[in-house]
Amino acid sequence: MKYIDLHTHSSYSDGTMRPATLIDHAKQAGLSAIALTDHDTMAGVPEAMARGLEQGVEVIPGIEISSRHNDMFMHILGYGLQHDDPTLKDRLTKIQESRSGRNRRIISKLCKLGIKVTMADLKIYSKEGQTGRPHIARLLLDKKVVRTLHEAFSRYLRRGGRAYADRFRYEAGAAINMIQEAGGLAILAHPLSTTPRLSGIRELVKTLQDMGLAGVEVYYPAHSPGLTKILKQVTLENKMLVTGGSDFHGDNKPDITLSLAREQLSIPYSLLVEIKKQLERQSGL
Ligand code: AMP
Ligand code: ZN
Ligand code: FE
Ligand code: FE
Repeated sequence: MKYIDLHTHSSYSDGTMRPATLIDHAKQAGLSAIALTDHDTMAGVPEAMARGLEQGVEVIPGIEISSRHNDMFMHILGYGLQHDDPTLKDRLTKIQESRSGRNRRIISKLCKLGIKVTMADLKIYSKEGQTGRPHIARLLLDKKVVRTLHEAFSRYLRRGGRAYADRFRYEAGAAINMIQEAGGLAILAHPLSTTPRLSGIRELVKTLQDMGLAGVEVYYPAHSPGLTKILKQVTLENKMLVTGGSDFHGDNKPDITLSLAREQLSIPYSLLVEIKKQLERQSGL
């Protein structure tokens, strides 16, 4: 059997491994294919693809876009997009700029709470890519303001936390369009983090499908076997693609390993075959 992992982050967003190291790690784990899905950027894709060719690991160009619909926040994954599409790059720049403004607001809130941190301190935690809340969490950990990354979120960085600041997000429909226009397929990531109720997930999937959503992330570490079964049913009933991945972030999420290393999360290559068929159909239109 061949196995895959379609949800991973590198140091271009908030993972701790460079794309090439991530591919080496995937090779070691025995994975046949991996999608690099950094938050709001595809800058790590060329490095991952080059190493993938060397290592014999198939690399699917991907992205994870934070977006919103009504009062719900969600992450939309994109697979098979052109990483250098100029329109896509422009649209992503808007998110990236709002991220840096937000980081400044978070740092300033922390300072007001008497925690002495600066933007220069933060810069050290993200060399090549974007800076997000997990980097700020590491800074707080190293400064001994908190004892765990989890505590950094629960006390300061979670939505509603003492140093939380919001940032610009595209509407879900716009995120789906931007993925499609760059030649990719849009997938709803970890639906449980958008809405914990199953009825809510059913409704959301249908609403997003009308906007062009192609599939749902069914296999995910936080999904119990029961939930996985139901999500798979909902997805197939709607004739959509079933996908899955670990959401690997390296040391920024130390409990999460690549999919094959977890027996509960073995994702068969056959899912990728369906994704590639759909991408071919789409490009033939
Ligand atoms: P950002 O893109 O800067 O908003 O940060 C989002 C990242 O922070 C994602 O990788 C999330 O998984 C992570 N994150 C969000 N909430 C928490 C939390 N409560 N504990 C740990 N990580 C979190
Ligand atoms: Zn992340
Ligand atoms: Fe996510
Ligand atoms: Fe993710």
